[in-house]
Amino acid sequence: MASDLTLDKIVALCKRRGFVFPSAEIYGGINGVYDFGPLGAQMRNNIKNFWIKSIKSNHDVVLIDGSILGPEKVWTASGHIDNFSDPMVDCQQCKKRYRADEIDINKSCPNCGRKNWTDVRQFHMMFKTQLGALEGHSQNAYLRPETAQAIFINFKNIITSSRVKMPFGIAQIGKAFRNEITPKQFLFRMREFEQMEMEFFCKAEDSEQFFTEWLKERIAFYDSIGVDKNKLRQKEHSKEDLAHYAKMATDIEYNFPFGWKELEGIHHRSDFDLKQHIELSGKDLSVFDEESKQSYVPYVIECSVGLDRLFLTLLFDSYCEDTVEGETRTVLKLNPKISPIKAAILPLTKKQVESAQKIYNELKQNYEVTLDVSGSIGKRYRRQDEIGTPICFTYDFDSDTDNKVTVRDRDTTKQERISIDHISDYLNKILK
Ligand code: ATP
Repeated sequence: MASDLTLDKIVALCKRRGFVFPSAEIYGGINGVYDFGPLGAQMRNNIKNFWIKSIKSNHDVVLIDGSILGPEKVWTASGHIDNFSDPMVDCQQCKKRYRADEIDINKSCPNCGRKNWTDVRQFHMMFKTQLGALEGHSQNAYLRPETAQAIFINFKNIITSSRVKMPFGIAQIGKAFRNEITPKQFLFRMREFEQMEMEFFCKAEDSEQFFTEWLKERIAFYDSIGVDKNKLRQKEHSKEDLAHYAKMATDIEYNFPFGWKELEGIHHRSDFDLKQHIELSGKDLSVFDEESKQSYVPYVIECSVGLDRLFLTLLFDSYCEDTVEGETRTVLKLNPKISPIKAAILPLTKKQVESAQKIYNELKQNYEVTLDVSGSIGKRYRRQDEIGTPICFTYDFDSDTDNKVTVRDRDTTKQERISIDHISDYLNKILK
């Protein structure tokens, strides 16, 4: 990360190059909600694929895709109806609203400098809606504030319909909604966001060992995706800080320009969720242990990371400004697997467009590639550097005769010539 990197630079880059746009911008926007443009959507898919691969690599883990709407009972059982609120306070002078745990209300308002606070009230963060059109017959429902509950309420369906054996995990990627009091820091705290969550079901006696194992695996994931080790740390929750469902918890934090903040939470949820759903639904969610010939309710280790928060982390972590041939360039040194575009095909002049187009047409069957024909070659390199494209292939004056292209590496800017027939091998190697 560049030392003078600010959030504003990232926001501007995201808008300029089509990674992220404020949602409903032509109508003035909507606070805490964003749309992802072509590069952003592609990069998100790459992150999701990387995550799925990592979460399944050492353990048996199955994927599900649960619903976003849930009936009130689900959220009563999970504890969200009673507990999912943040303390809120307003400045009566300038009307600015704060999360009361984020400011010191013994001091003046950071915005207007006066000290005229309302009482601290609890603000419930779930989005509530009504199902059905008939008055008096409608049912309360909520947009899910986390994806995890879809996993717990489907636990029995999954063990009876799939060939999973304990211990195993159920993973899910999907939207979650929280009416945050103060959405801020761009994708860091949103009202509509996406989570990547995995609930690992095991016996109570193995749960602490799995907690340690998963924590280690998740740290290894960040290493494999290219996040700077020095910018990550683990923060264990003290007993007082634990969420209502947690027995043990450790956050993996990243050093953002606005401070160390949670990126992922690893939680030991014990049998809290399954037991709650057993109690409220009256259904048996236990499993039968062949060894002891007894039924038991599994314990759960959860790994939960926000896709958008990780997306933002990767942008911060890979952003560099350096000088190449006397010119400053912006470059996203993303892991090639995460880069939205894997390679750019650049015909040196208009005369080479047709031949370059042929290479492009072939490559795009298997890779996310782009053909860029306009501007000087230097300008085109910079355009690709700024969006993290790891490789540029230039079709030049000699290519017709030697059947080779010039390969230019994003990070080192080094160039070499390779045979056109070896382009796919070259790409496969950097994407391995
Ligand atoms: P925070 O303390 O930052 O509010 P949390 O402890 O409430 O987070 P969890 O409920 O554990 O978060 O959610 C798991 C993950 O989901 C977080 O680690 C984070 O990456 C992501 N996440 C949570 N809330 C948001 C949000 N409002 N916007 C974007 N990502 C979020």
